[in-house]
Amino acid sequence: MSGYLDQPTVEARLAAYQESEDLELDIDRLRNEYQQNDWIVPPREELREEAIKQQREWLENLALCETEGHLLEETADCENGTSDLYCDRCGFSQHIQW
Ligand SMILES: [Zn+2]
Repeated sequence: MSGYLDQPTVEARLAAYQESEDLELDIDRLRNEYQQNDWIVPPREELREEAIKQQREWLENLALCETEGHLLEETADCENGTSDLYCDRCGFSQHIQW
């Protein structure tokens, strides 16, 4: 996880994200998604805006989770005595052993 999550607010995190390599990686990831679906790949500037928009939504969700706690869904595997926890809001996941 990148250092921009050390910032105190969503806005500060988003600003730091825009200067991080993660933005470039996300733009590449979006471009790959378009290509894999045989969709027309939008101009780079649009991909950039889309990546930032998605990141803002995720950061806002994450901030909610930080103040209210994750919305965890548990999927138990009784045979192995493990559970997978997954947060519907921010996508956080955890694998636990009982
Ligand atoms: Zn969460």
